[in-house]
Amino acid sequence: ETDEKRILIVEDETVIRDAVSAYLERENYAVRGVGDGQSAVEEFQKHSFDLVILDLMLPKLSGERVCRAIRDVSNVPIIMLTAKSDTMAVVEGLEAGADDYVSKPFKVAELLARIRTRLRRITHQSGNQEAYNPAHIERDGLVMDRSQHTVSVYGHNANLTPLEFDLLFLLASNENEVISRTTLLKEVWGYADAGDTRLVSVHIQRLRAKVEKGPEHPDFIHTVQGIGYKFCTSSENIK
Ligand code: CA
Repeated sequence: ETDEKRILIVEDETVIRDAVSAYLERENYAVRGVGDGQSAVEEFQKHSFDLVILDLMLPKLSGERVCRAIRDVSNVPIIMLTAKSDTMAVVEGLEAGADDYVSKPFKVAELLARIRTRLRRITHQSGNQEAYNPAHIERDGLVMDRSQHTVSVYGHNANLTPLEFDLLFLLASNENEVISRTTLLKEVWGYADAGDTRLVSVHIQRLRAKVEKGPEHPDFIHTVQGIGYKFCTSSENIK
């Protein structure tokens, strides 16, 4: 089946792995499960996946290291599983390149919602005619192509993950408008109400590292203290 999305689940707790696998298979995903970090890296090298569910506490190789190993070679969406009490682990996982996370114990339906959001691309939707939905954005050396999902900065491919692309696209297609963290969590991560704003700040950091010449003095993505972010080019900023 060409439409069938392939998911790798990395989780050493068999009960969770089996329950999630069974649930996702009923939702017509093709699921492969492994129980340690080393096997995860090997499995990822052998097969292609559309999404990875990654527990952080794993035998042999930590989830964080698995995440970095995958990010070295792929922009595949990664959703991590964390223990609710472990707030540091969330930040470490996000900094290692995870897109989103679900805290244990979780409802599988909640995980499914997160998976669906990551597999859909906001920038593919063209139904909303009122929204400014350009195919191509070009500002001061930054070029975004929506059909190819590519971004280049001063001629160099920025190699963004799908999530980073969507985040930048949302900001850039609303040039000079302040977009709140809540709005970004809703539009990019699919959170109906309050989500973890660290998702936004860590991903903005990662995005800046890829598209800004000097991430500390951004040319494109500007922080609006206490509210959110605004895309504007530095030349306009001087005015
Ligand atoms: Ca574990």
